[in-house]
Parts: sequence; C-alpha cells; structure tokens
Amino acid sequence: MVALLVFWAAFRSPDTEFRSTLHVFGTLVEIIIRDTDEAAAQRAISAVSASFQRMHTGWHSWEHGELRDLNQAIAVGRSETVSSFLLPLIHQAKQFYRLSDGLFNPAIGALVAEWGFHADKPETGAIPSPETIRALLSQNPTMDDLVFDGTRIASRNRSVRLDFGGFAKGAALDRAAEILKSFGIENAVLNAGGDLRVLGDHGNRRWRAGIRHPLDWGLIASVDLVAGEGLFTSGNYERYREHEGRRYTHIIDPRNGMPIDRIVSVSVIHPNGALADAAATALSIAGPTDWSRVARRMGVNYVLLVEKTGTVYLSPEMKKRVTFVGTPPEKVVVPPWRHTDAPKPTKKDVATEPE
Ligand code: ADP
Ligand code: MG
Repeated sequence: MVALLVFWAAFRSPDTEFRSTLHVFGTLVEIIIRDTDEAAAQRAISAVSASFQRMHTGWHSWEHGELRDLNQAIAVGRSETVSSFLLPLIHQAKQFYRLSDGLFNPAIGALVAEWGFHADKPETGAIPSPETIRALLSQNPTMDDLVFDGTRIASRNRSVRLDFGGFAKGAALDRAAEILKSFGIENAVLNAGGDLRVLGDHGNRRWRAGIRHPLDWGLIASVDLVAGEGLFTSGNYERYREHEGRRYTHIIDPRNGMPIDRIVSVSVIHPNGALADAAATALSIAGPTDWSRVARRMGVNYVLLVEKTGTVYLSPEMKKRVTFVGTPPEKVVVPPWRHTDAPKPTKKDVATEPE
C-alpha cells in the first residue's frame, strides 16, 4: 500500500493514455491505459469497475456481503454455498496459508477484529487483554479447518473467521488485469495506493515504481517492473492504532496473537499479485531471521524488507533491481539464497479466474 508509482509522468504522451480512478476496499485505484482508443479504454474500465464493486461486497471482511454470511454460517456450525466469484479466493488463501507455514493465516479474522481493525478507521480504546488473546489462540483457527464439497464450504472449527485483507488487493488487481487483457488492452498500470500491477510496457521502456521510505519522507528505492509484474508492500505505519504511547499495527502474528513489531515494511515483486500481497504480509511476520526461508518457500525471489532499526534486507535478485533513492541505508543485508525444493504454487492454485 505504500509504494508510489513515479516517473511515468515524464514520458507521458497524453493522446494515447487514459486515466481513471475507481474504488475498492476503501482504496483508490488509479488505472492508466496506454496505446488504445478511448472507447476501448472506457469499456474496459467499466468492466473493471463492475468487478471491483462485486469484490467489495463479496470479499469484504466486516461489511455486509457473501464473506460475512459465510463467516456467520461457520460460527454456528452450518455449511454454506459460495459463488464462483468467492470460491477461488478461498482456495488461494488456503494455498498461501500452507506455503507460508501458517504465517499468512486469513482464518484469524477474530483476532484482527479483537485488535480493532474490522473498522474503516482502527478502533481506539483498550487493547485486548492477554486472556482474550490466549483464548482466541487456543481455538487455533486455520485454513485447514475448512472442508470443501464443491461449492459448499464448512469448517471443522467454529472459530474460523475469514479475513482476506492481507491479499484481497493483490487478488483484485490480478482480476482487473485479466479483465483489461480480455478487452484487448496490452499496456496498462493499476495503482492501488502504491500497490501496483502492470501490463505490458510503457512505450519502449519498463514501468518504473518507487517504494516509499517507511521511516522517512520520500522514497527509499526505485525499481523497474517487467511486463505482467506486481509490486506489493505491507507497511506497519499506515494502518495502526496507538495505546499508552505504543503503536499497534494491523498485521497480526498468528503464533502469539500480537501485532508485529520489528518489521516496518516489506515489498515483494511477483507476476501473481495475490501471491505478492500475501507474501508481503507473511514476510512481515517472519521477520529478520526467517523471511528469506519463507520467501523461498513461497516461490518469491524479489523482496525488500525494512527493519525498524533502519536495516534493509534484500534478496539477491532484488538487489540487482533496486536503486536506492537519496542517502543509502546504513546497513544492507543480502542473505545467501539457497535453492529450495519447497512446493511452488501450482497453476490451479494461483490462477486468477476471470468472471
Ligand atoms: P496493507 O494493507 O498495508 O497492504 P497487508 O497486505 O499486510 O497490509 O494486510 C493487512 C491485513 O491483513 C490486516 O488488516 C488484516 O485484515 C489481515 N491480516 C492481519 N494479520 C494477518 C495474518 N497473519 N495473515 C493473513 N492476514 C492477516
Ligand atoms: Mg499483504
């Protein structure tokens, strides 16, 4: 959410570029379409807009809609039929849960709500007591509790509350990109508050994006994006609450029920936006000692991670692609990147399904 797309304005050619701003999940999404005529661009944008509206009601964690209905059914031990619009998202969520060794766990919606983040503006007031957190943790909700019977879903565990906030934006931009492609659009960028998904190129150049500095004004780095890639950042400084002088962010470590504390931002590049978004959340939780293992396991090779001390961690591939902006960080760590035979997401698991 915290990277900023910059630089393209310098190459802008207004006669072949169309811009539009849409909303999804409370975020503005800017769509820039190049190299097509206005009517085609408008048709594509209308289709994306309709799809975003459907996502907003179908995938929202706490507003009225299909996901909330499913959560209510799970809470009372009922099974529920879900639409073909929601089902692939649930399968993807389960896949990323497994790939991240449970660090990305969209079944912990009750914990996220207890911390006050099931509201447009994080709740103020007391934070959950250690007893409340212990009680929620002891129920151990996971994505593996779900039982699938075609389009019918039940849960073996009534404490499962699905919350797709950790990767819905990535999945939304993936679907939007598919829709643009289906309308014959070849070159475009979707920018959801700095989370990006690009299609094709920018003229003869690549799209270039900036990653915002999580501890300072301005950018920390810029990076070129290859056709089809997404850049997703999880940061702990945009959506958080404060209590008695401490800051609590909305990314919760499922192992202890607490908001993460050491990592201030993680940026991931991957052609699968949903995976990049989920990985950015998972690696924020994995932290400075475990992130590279989890990244390899998730099949993610481009990672930039900033610790609250200011230390920057880069995967070797990311190091080749980023250019630091301004004063370079005092300490940059690039860990060895050993090959791992961990399971990669299969095509079926990560495929985005057009409507
Ligand atoms: P941002 O919105 O800054 O891009 P993220 O992509 O990391 O941040 O998403 C954070 C959201 O993910 C939270 O608001 C919550 O809805 C959800 N979430 C929090 N902790 C987890 C977790 N451990 N696994 C999956 N989702 C989580
Ligand atoms: Mg995320």
